[in-house]
Amino acid sequence: MRNKINRRAFLHAIAVLSASMIGRKAMATSAPNKGASWSGKIKGLGESGNVYEELGLTTVINGQGTMTYLGGSLMRPEAEAVMKLAALHFVNINDLEAAAGKRIAEMLKLPQGYSALVTSGAASAIQNGYSGILTGSNETYIKQIPDLTGLKSEVIIQKAHRSPWNHQIRATGVKMVEVETVADVHNAIRERTAAMHFLNLADPDGQIKREEWLKLAHAANLPAFIDAAADTPPKSHLWDYANMGYDLISFSGGKAMRGPQCTGLLIGRQEMISNALLNMSPNEDTLGRPTKVGKEEIVGMLKTLELYLAEDEQALAKEQWGQLDAIANRVTKIAGVTVTRHVPEIANNFPTIQIHLDPSKFSIDAGQVNRELASMKPSIVLGGGGNHENSTIGITAIVLQPGQDLIIADALSKVLREHQV
Ligand SMILES: *Cc1c(COP(=O)(O)O)cnc(C)c1O
Repeated sequence: MRNKINRRAFLHAIAVLSASMIGRKAMATSAPNKGASWSGKIKGLGESGNVYEELGLTTVINGQGTMTYLGGSLMRPEAEAVMKLAALHFVNINDLEAAAGKRIAEMLKLPQGYSALVTSGAASAIQNGYSGILTGSNETYIKQIPDLTGLKSEVIIQKAHRSPWNHQIRATGVKMVEVETVADVHNAIRERTAAMHFLNLADPDGQIKREEWLKLAHAANLPAFIDAAADTPPKSHLWDYANMGYDLISFSGGKAMRGPQCTGLLIGRQEMISNALLNMSPNEDTLGRPTKVGKEEIVGMLKTLELYLAEDEQALAKEQWGQLDAIANRVTKIAGVTVTRHVPEIANNFPTIQIHLDPSKFSIDAGQVNRELASMKPSIVLGGGGNHENSTIGITAIVLQPGQDLIIADALSKVLREHQV
């Protein structure tokens, strides 16, 4: 036995020695990850270069947007490269999260006392953020939730701010208490109130606006959480709400920032950030243990932020308008088609066009056009018209690749011409 260990130590020493002699590049790939003896040529899955086709799937030309069900966005190649570097070593994940938080606070110039955490999507930023609010750093409570015996148990929200992501708040065991007016808020606040939740994109819809909501929460000594998941661009939103005084803020990493699809950011007060981390992976016996973030994703998110912050937002928007106008110019040649352009005020704040169909000119409606395009190969997925689902098709170019604007324009024109009356 002893001999064997010595022999292994000896072989290791030789390996390290020879690696150091054959230069940095070889060492980076061979020394830390000894399983990586791969030649660089893919065999089996991936051999053709298109893993999805190999699996019998149709890839999608995505004119809808950064939809999770379509894969979110396409990662930045530089972020992918850095993720590969992250895969070469082991590291303590709790320490990595702390270091990432420090780096993010520096990059975003967050206010004094603020930090950040890379989470598995904004949804997990919400859940783990609320877990931390409820449990603090108390180990018994961390193990106990979603059983809230002895803990606060209610979160106040405006009726117009309810969203599917309230499920992640409820997962912690709390009950959502709906309010509409300031008087409602005063009535709703009581001993068991844990926090007040704001959905950034719903700001125009609720009676109580962003700043006032925060003031109401702080006047009652309650933390205020703002979900701004899809609200970059503009980049300034990454620090605006922290500067305003919101205690916790959630963002998606895999939407317009084009980070790893399964990443998100929880930005907020240092203590609440640490308490959120105590409630999630890699820490065992926690509610957030299923919301694992890998070392590769944590580092990929950091690189994504670095690249995103350096990006020229106006130039990007101009490029997107170029693609959308190319589609608009073609389809408006067809009688009965008009196009309007707009940029949503808060969520998905990027160029969007709406294609309106005069129902008297076509034998199919907008929903049917979308279904026909989606059944093509590759599948073309465009957005709906919101409240005008039957007459309007929505398109964004936020994740459109070069040349795909013309593919969309041709396919859309063809379908529309085929159904002219
Ligand atoms: C997309 C979204 C989420 C969830 O974000 P993920 O990063 O996909 O987990 C939460 N809230 C809002 C408002 C969103 O748009």
